[in-house]
Amino acid sequence: MPTAIINVTVWDGSRTISPGFVLWEGETITGVGRADTVRFSSSVRLVDGKGGWLIPGLIDLHVHVDEVKTPELFVRYGVTSVRDMGSSPRVVAEWRRRWRAGDKRPYVYWMGRNIDTGKPSWWEAVAVRKPAEVPALLEHLRKLGADGFKLYVNADRITAGAVIDYARWMGLPVTAHHETIPASELLRLGISGIEHAHCMLHELLASRPRIDEKRKSGYLRVFAGFGRLSTEGERVQRLMELAYATSIVWTPTLSLYDIPPWWKSKSPAGVSIPADWRAEWSRPYWDFISTRGWTPADFRTAERAVEVYKHFVREAYRLGVLIGAGTDTPAPGLLPGAALHHELRLLAECGFSPEDALRAATVTAAKALRQEGKVGVLQPGARADMVLLEKSPLERVENLFTVRKVYLRGREI
Ligand SMILES: [Zn+2]
Repeated sequence: MPTAIINVTVWDGSRTISPGFVLWEGETITGVGRADTVRFSSSVRLVDGKGGWLIPGLIDLHVHVDEVKTPELFVRYGVTSVRDMGSSPRVVAEWRRRWRAGDKRPYVYWMGRNIDTGKPSWWEAVAVRKPAEVPALLEHLRKLGADGFKLYVNADRITAGAVIDYARWMGLPVTAHHETIPASELLRLGISGIEHAHCMLHELLASRPRIDEKRKSGYLRVFAGFGRLSTEGERVQRLMELAYATSIVWTPTLSLYDIPPWWKSKSPAGVSIPADWRAEWSRPYWDFISTRGWTPADFRTAERAVEVYKHFVREAYRLGVLIGAGTDTPAPGLLPGAALHHELRLLAECGFSPEDALRAATVTAAKALRQEGKVGVLQPGARADMVLLEKSPLERVENLFTVRKVYLRGREI
């Protein structure tokens, strides 16, 4: 039966419609418009939105579902799609199977396994030895359900070029968490996205300080040196202009740098962290992303780096570079769903208007996924993933926390 929600203000991804309505049938939106100019037939079930705000379901562009045991938390916070960055195909297939079966969890777009050169840098990565192996690998990942590809820390230029070229031929996007190749080189090769703030910027460092990982957590590597980066100059300008000109989506994952143990406080940013997640993040497994062994000077290094990252994000935003919202959930403190709200708040601190912050998690995120018009918007043909809020998200990003109802594929959750 077709359903319409009325008595709401609709934000469809670009416009505000008040009084608005959204009409859907099954899991697909069939109509959006002004509620005072239509008459619904008696076959339409009407839902009273009671003066709330209806927005597209949110998208977190940087998630590792392998490590998420509480998928329903995403939905509780209005996140109805996530982009997975390298989990196992078995886990992704299981998430999708349960999503199709009506389970309360977001849809997972999968960027395949992390692609390295030579040898895998991480248990969840795959490595290519020569570029001739790339087509077969990408075809294999696509068969397993990949929606795009992700270059990883050990990928070299030759692998990067081969992956970007073949993916372009397949019509799929490529993004990168790269630690050695300069971002500008990947942009020239035609990559579609860059992950993390430090990956965009590391080419601007004169050298990268070494961290003795026996003494302290290697997490310090994402900060060391960056605090001294000049945010001006010709190279900076060229890099930002290149990011703009190539229309990539940069996902700076600012929340990844929000230094633990901020989340150890009782309810950081007004979110109470469930005991099972606190216990999870106390496991030694997460040491690689902890502040183990850090000195007070290391904390200062990290704080300075975060200021620099924010400055660059602000500058990129000003120049019109597309910025996507992603978190690296569930790194310690990044609670599924809630972390995305935190990311949007950090973008607001970089000067984003609430509406532009919201676009980072909807319209721009859909572009990164090459799913424009299908998710991240309320328009005919899009999936009926919607969030009903108490308060206007265009007033302040914090109002996104006022979730009253979530519709997942047209079903009220
Ligand atoms: Zn990640």
